Amino acid sequence: MAQELAGKVAIITGGASGIGRATVALFIAEGASVVIADIDVARGEALAAELGERAVFCRTDVASREDMRALVDFAISHFGGLHVLFNNAGVSGAMHARFLDDDFADFERVVGINLLSVIIGSQAAGRHMAKHGGGVIINNASIAGVLPGQALNTYRATKAAVIHLSKSIAIDLAEYNIRVIALAPGHIRTPLTSFAPPGVSPETAARVQQEVGAAFDVNQPLKRAGRPEDVAQTVLFLASDRAAQITGVVLPVDGGITAGDPVNH
Ligand code: NAD
Repeated sequence: MAQELAGKVAIITGGASGIGRATVALFIAEGASVVIADIDVARGEALAAELGERAVFCRTDVASREDMRALVDFAISHFGGLHVLFNNAGVSGAMHARFLDDDFADFERVVGINLLSVIIGSQAAGRHMAKHGGGVIINNASIAGVLPGQALNTYRATKAAVIHLSKSIAIDLAEYNIRVIALAPGHIRTPLTSFAPPGVSPETAARVQQEVGAAFDVNQPLKRAGRPEDVAQTVLFLASDRAAQITGVVLPVDGGITAGDPVNH
């Protein structure tokens, strides 16, 4: 079967772990050249080394305007172009804190990593894509950006903003043949959703993640927590020419969670 992304160049932020890592591996398998952008140098470099010369690591703090611009320039100079940007890096913020307990530094950190990064990256990539026939920008939001709920307030707000931003810039950039799509994953088993308190042993973190994953399995209509690979396959489709008519949407990848209450509807 033909490779879906042969000849394409992609940037994947947060590419060293979880959803980003699974997407990097799938994009490489489908023929793309990929810049893995992450703040975690050890994991990012190790992944690039594992995947061969079409994968390269670029240490990036996505909350930094300078880093994001340098990242886009790096992809273009290293691989000769840029066709796909997956703005995927994200953090939850203080996982267990309630709104009245959260501190301002945490609000700022979450806004910088989850939202400002998407604005800066989309603009830098969009400027290049607009001059070179178009491209695809996929922004990883969350069902938390669709459903309000207790705790993770700043996280929810940034993800809602990413969804609205994606739809708006999809309209703005359509004339350049740039498609912009927001993803809303549900409960995906990754380090982000281990929910282990900071500082616990790796064994405890693994146990907590197992327990949380088991709860995820029952809390959704499909009765299975999502895997990073489920999201990666969706990103592949959206990045490919098969999705050429899809822009300005938010796509849940959530086992049916946002379809409604599985018990009472
Ligand atoms: P993860 O923790 O496994 O991976 C996140 C990656 O982002 C890590 O490699 C981390 O080093 C990187 N990162 C963090 N801060 C960074 C920064 N300042 N600059 C560059 N890289 C940085 O998490 P994941 O679950 O794979 O999450 C990926 C995205 O998916 C996030 O945006 C998250 O909000 C979203 N999401 C995840 C879930 C889920 O259930 N796991 C659900 C909905 C949405």
